[in-house]
Amino acid sequence: MFILVSGASGSGKSTIIKEILKHFDKNIALLPSSTSRKIRPGEIEGENYYYLTKEEFEDAIKNGEFIEYQKVFENGNYYGVSRNRYNDYSKKYPLLIKDVDVLGVENIKKEDDIDTLSIYIDVGDDEELRKRLINRGDDLKDIELRIKRKRFEDGYKNKYDYIVLNDDIEKAILKTKKIIEKEIEKRSKK
Ligand code: 5GP
Repeated sequence: MFILVSGASGSGKSTIIKEILKHFDKNIALLPSSTSRKIRPGEIEGENYYYLTKEEFEDAIKNGEFIEYQKVFENGNYYGVSRNRYNDYSKKYPLLIKDVDVLGVENIKKEDDIDTLSIYIDVGDDEELRKRLINRGDDLKDIELRIKRKRFEDGYKNKYDYIVLNDDIEKAILKTKKIIEKEIEKRSKK
């Protein structure tokens, strides 16, 4: 089962994914995708992403290496899930998880051979997100861009298998764990 998690920047999806990885331990892995964005301080190659140049990414697109890819953010960087990497990881782990944007989820769901579970982490209204991003220390121009992006992503939330409202991080983690457990059980009965 490939668990796809979306939500605005600041929605808490990274924290939730971290806890899900701990909880399901050896049965789950984070599937790193590829990106043409620059590595950020503290990030490790191969953990969340493999970092490619724009040219390397475009070559990989031409070679058909991606299940899906997007030019995600308003900054024009590419993000995509490699078919080979997905195949390798899914042989080793019954559960895979990755955060992808709303369009990525739509495209991965179209793949007949991939069993997906999509979860949207809903941060609530714009003001709630603005508050969180200010507390996190993001700069103001960036915050407005992220709110614009949130409005766009919120427009897709009803297409997800589940929406988890994160007005309390502990509750949101628990709810996400329960959803995954329920879906594992459903599949085991098939
Ligand atoms: P960031 O640059 O902050 O790591 O990610 C920016 C956005 O790209 C996030 O919404 C993240 O979920 C999304 N993203 C990360 N990897 C992929 C991917 O492989 N495909 C798609 N479609 N979106 C991705």
